[in-house]
Amino acid sequence: DQRVVIVGAGMAGVQTAVALRECGHQGPVTVLGAEPHPPYDRPPLSKAVLLGQAEGSAFDIDFDALGVELRLGVGATGLRPGPREVDTTAGPVPYDALVLACGARPRTLPGTSGVPGVHVLRTLDDVAVLRPLLQAQRDIAIVGAGWIGAEFATAARAAGCAVTVVEAADRPLAHALPAEVTAPMAGWYAESGTSLLTGVGVDRVEEGALHLANGRAIAADAILVGIGARPATDWLAGSGVELGPEGAVRADASLRASLPAVYAVGDCASFPSARYGERLLVHHWDNALQGPRTVAAHLTGAAAEPYDPVPYFWSEQFGRFVQYAGHHAGADLLVHRGDPRGSAWSALWLRGGALVALLAVGRPRDLAQGRKLVEAGAPLDPERAADPSVPLKRA
Ligand code: FAD
Repeated sequence: DQRVVIVGAGMAGVQTAVALRECGHQGPVTVLGAEPHPPYDRPPLSKAVLLGQAEGSAFDIDFDALGVELRLGVGATGLRPGPREVDTTAGPVPYDALVLACGARPRTLPGTSGVPGVHVLRTLDDVAVLRPLLQAQRDIAIVGAGWIGAEFATAARAAGCAVTVVEAADRPLAHALPAEVTAPMAGWYAESGTSLLTGVGVDRVEEGALHLANGRAIAADAILVGIGARPATDWLAGSGVELGPEGAVRADASLRASLPAVYAVGDCASFPSARYGERLLVHHWDNALQGPRTVAAHLTGAAAEPYDPVPYFWSEQFGRFVQYAGHHAGADLLVHRGDPRGSAWSALWLRGGALVALLAVGRPRDLAQGRKLVEAGAPLDPERAADPSVPLKRA
């Protein structure tokens, strides 16, 4: 039976190991994880774990019982496809099939590496440093009003810190969602007592202060940089694995990389979506859960559909539960379902009369109903859909 080696012990790597056993794979499975900690879930890191409401978020998986070899604190440093070996910090590891599940790393601001008091939020080790700062109610500055910036601001305010968020775009989440739906979110920051400065870049950072491009300086005990993440694929340079924009492994619709017997899944891989007619690089939890099932099916010879999910994610920010399913483009028809200035509303995007995406704020039922319609490509009557009292269903 073939030896499967999985690089990365995050959600995607661990789920691949679990899915392989579920699919009946009998051969050896080894998971290499660069971090020393037992594998854990990331979303709680910016929520309960950061606030000390949960000690950790380790996955409740018995790897011994599954017959999965976990090698923690072992980083892959190179790939030699000829002899089918992964070089690691603990020596070479042979494979018959290899799954790349190495995730992503936070982008950094140029000129900030090594500056004391500048942080990112991605790992349990990051949280170990950040949590005491919140407990001590330090003054916090955050660069970036994206998902991580919003969730960190939420936690820091809940802990009683003074918080300033600096965003280069003119509104929060500018890279993820259009202005019609994100402009009201600036009010969420204000309401929580977070100071949000938009339309201004960062000039430089020094210990204790963030210097903005407009000459203003923000004093802060700690600075969190939350400006997105990039696939952690530097170690694959020169290996023959094709990397695309951002350094993402270019996988095909079976999540195969460009070398024989090599697959890629989760935050490190882009895949072609026939559903959306473009290649997607998804940095959300659900993708790291779904992709492994496709990989395991292919590795065990089970029947598998092309990997073409309806992307889904959620965020918890400023007391709101924000969910998004699908994928929309600027030309799609936007239908408001409820008042975006209110506490619960949804936004729907239609293309050719069918629902292609929705954003639900405090309306989980809309999300559940809408997600099914998006999956089915079902037509929707925009007038009825605009009425929040009418359940979302096909026209
Ligand atoms: P990762 O979780 O990044 O795991 C990859 C693992 O591989 C890491 O442990 C890394 O150390 C290891 N690794 C990297 N390189 C190597 C190497 N060369 N050798 C060995 N090991 C290596 N998504 C949502 O949908 N909703 C949320 O609310 C949400 N909240 C989030 C909050 C935070 C703070 C963060 C950071 C992310 C959040 N996400 C959320 C995104 C979600 O957590 C990720 O999409 C998911 O973790 C991706 O899983 P992954 O296994 O592909 O990558």
